[in-house]
Amino acid sequence: MYVSPKEILQDAIDRHYAVAAFNFYNLDTLLAIIEAAEEERSPVIAQIYADHFTFYNGGGSIAKAALRLIEETPVPVYLHLDHASNYETILYAIELGFHSVMYDGSELPLDENISISKTVVEAAHKHGIFTEVELGRIGRLSGGQEDAVYDDCTGVEEACQLISNCKADSLAPAIGTAHGLYRTVPKLNFRRLEELQKALEVPLVLHGGSGIPDELIRKSIDLGIAKINVGTELKYQWSSTMKAGLEQGLKEPIKLENNAKQAVKEIAKRKISLFGSAGKA
Ligand SMILES: [Zn+2]
Repeated sequence: MYVSPKEILQDAIDRHYAVAAFNFYNLDTLLAIIEAAEEERSPVIAQIYADHFTFYNGGGSIAKAALRLIEETPVPVYLHLDHASNYETILYAIELGFHSVMYDGSELPLDENISISKTVVEAAHKHGIFTEVELGRIGRLSGGQEDAVYDDCTGVEEACQLISNCKADSLAPAIGTAHGLYRTVPKLNFRRLEELQKALEVPLVLHGGSGIPDELIRKSIDLGIAKINVGTELKYQWSSTMKAGLEQGLKEPIKLENNAKQAVKEIAKRKISLFGSAGKA
């Protein structure tokens, strides 16, 4: 069932757990996320990366499937648009019924990030839609030469400036995580996380949650992270299970997809239990 992002994230803060925000890529991964939440009796966030969203018949078909599943499930879920930097895409997602949108202006200078974030937040709030903005550079790990790893974390003063000016409902700060799969243990700046949590009144979101050691995840939650994004681990699990099935000679999509869905669901259930949200629905 749909429960508002404000309510879901506030409950996580009040009861000291984090809500898993799983990226879905197709119907298998979407079903895996919802079923994992049902089996663990956990709230969950179903999110889709802006570029993937537009791939599906302009985004409408996959969004409608997600909204329908959210309507039918007994656990609290909301639908979030992840990493959109295009204003038109955000407006379209709002029109389709997304419950929450992220505008990512982290590549821009602070004043431009503030000004576009403000426009997006105003448009979203007009429709009662929750918002997430980003500040600082979250790394990108492609497993090749295009890796981008940054040491500079989100500044407290800049974060306060962004949130007080644009009035966004949540913030994704850079504290040393990266998108993709880590080859070495990431160094998270917990002192900065603590400072940000004290200075800001909005929920904080951890991006790049795939492959972070369990104890670092638990510490991030202790220090105030309310939403943790996990994408890479789910998509790699989906593709490796599909590949194994094809190599075994399976030809029926229903068998291949069911195996992939079950494997993704197991990862999602492990994350839900690690984040402390199992049994909280
Ligand atoms: Zn991200």
